[in-house]
Amino acid sequence: MELLIKNGIIYDPINGVNGEKMDIAIRDGKIVENVKESKALKIDASGMTVMPGGVDIHCHIAGSEVNTGRLLRPEDHFRDFERKTPNTRSGVGHSVPSTFTTGYRYAKMGYTTIMNPSMPPLEAKHTHEELNDTPMVDKATYPLLGDWWFVLEYLKDGKIEECARYVAWMITTTKGYAIKIVNPGGLEAWGSGRNVSSIDDQVPYFGITPREILRGLCKVNKLLNLPHTIHVHTNNLGKPGNYLTALDTMKCVEDLASEGKPAIHITHCQFCAFKGSDWRTVKSGAEEIAKYVNNHPHVTLDIGQVIFTDTTTMTADGPFQYSLYGLTGNKWVNHDVETETSSGIVPFRYRRKSYVHAIQWSTGLELALLVKDPWKIFMTTDHPNGGPFIYYPRIIAWFMSKKAREATLKKINPRAESRSLLPSTDRELSFYEIAIMTRAGQAKALGLEGKGHLGVGADADVAIYAINPETIDPSKKYKTVRKAFENAAYTIKGGKIVAKKGEILKHVEGATMWLDVQVSEPIRITEEMKRRFREYWTVEYENYPVTENYLGVSHPITIKADV
Ligand SMILES: [Zn+2]
Repeated sequence: MELLIKNGIIYDPINGVNGEKMDIAIRDGKIVENVKESKALKIDASGMTVMPGGVDIHCHIAGSEVNTGRLLRPEDHFRDFERKTPNTRSGVGHSVPSTFTTGYRYAKMGYTTIMNPSMPPLEAKHTHEELNDTPMVDKATYPLLGDWWFVLEYLKDGKIEECARYVAWMITTTKGYAIKIVNPGGLEAWGSGRNVSSIDDQVPYFGITPREILRGLCKVNKLLNLPHTIHVHTNNLGKPGNYLTALDTMKCVEDLASEGKPAIHITHCQFCAFKGSDWRTVKSGAEEIAKYVNNHPHVTLDIGQVIFTDTTTMTADGPFQYSLYGLTGNKWVNHDVETETSSGIVPFRYRRKSYVHAIQWSTGLELALLVKDPWKIFMTTDHPNGGPFIYYPRIIAWFMSKKAREATLKKINPRAESRSLLPSTDRELSFYEIAIMTRAGQAKALGLEGKGHLGVGADADVAIYAINPETIDPSKKYKTVRKAFENAAYTIKGGKIVAKKGEILKHVEGATMWLDVQVSEPIRITEEMKRRFREYWTVEYENYPVTENYLGVSHPITIKADV
């Protein structure tokens, strides 16, 4: 099967292509040098924007907490549902959409790769079952390892190499992709109703600090040669004054970075960029965070932008969700995953007229605009925590147009408006920078070689948007920009046209990418280890691993570790 995309205006930042008119040739699911025009299926992309398929580095779309969110929020689904079509299944939205709807909606926006960031290893099978059921996109998932007892025990004893072997085993066994750390030490403390409040607090019973967990797993990450850095949700998330904790977290691995390479990814940074001492005095810490990130090469961020809408918050940060429940009085689910992690879910509505919510909205955009290098900061809403992913086009419009920002600024809480840093920044991102922050930069940070670019050999995942950058001024016509990114003119996945103008044309499965981390001395599953499983977990060892045939479409990536 050959496909030729003709005369599009190409944005392919990894290959340095900035708005050039070019043809893209595709054969057997890959980008190739050229194809025979007479034989290939042709798409006329004249006057349209062509980018690699979108990549989402952090979105909660599958697994136990998402599914619990669906059960908790029947009202979420009433007003937002999808009818069955000849090509698609029916399903529901809005903030916790069903699996099929998730895949279809991403595909309509031109997204082709998405990363599920928070998998308790104990619930890996459930997560993979739902990922198998999420069509149209390639996907991967990050096991939560920052509070796993094995990690805490080995790091406490300074046994980094031993810890690395266990982490390698865990990632491969649960078919994961990266080391996820959430509120390090705080989740273990939460098991006994406590929390930690700085990176130097002691974790109860383990005699270890969040700093030691972060540094230990950063070293482990390096020893294992993992393609992505440690992926960190900081301590004190969602609390006034926490920008200092975010800075401490970035600083604590500064010396572990090598050759200007990233060593840590701080996820949904907006939620840990608050200045102030309480909710009345809270304000943006974006300037300080951006200043640090602009001066240090070892950090990447994603934003966690807030959207003014009704949504569902869900994280492994059990103690944070508990305080959110206390703030809102809303319904709440809490879950403790034995020896590994926790989680909580609370419905939430971000209101324009709320001082705090408006500050959060502004802070996310400030981060995006004040961090100078788009390769360091990526667009997310931490779906669904800041808002559902379907609102990405709205964020793109805010990025590209000061006028769009001003239109929203006028409607927000006046005290928040007067404190916002947005009126003082004139920066408007270009299509090239948007392509970095929504696909190229994310793919690069994830170490996904075949994704996020349109060079020869790349996966033929392409998004074509009906907008002509040569004739439109996105600064003025931001509504047109938003519309164009809402429904891609064409979404091409693995060389097949899967969506066109908001309609799904073809159902494809999409692969689950996972790391087969090869260490020189893999840990042996001894009777002693099985005993620990029996003692610590309610699941016996034999039921724990996710075998490869459990995955719908398996895409293993072999990694040779240095240990
Ligand atoms: Zn998240």
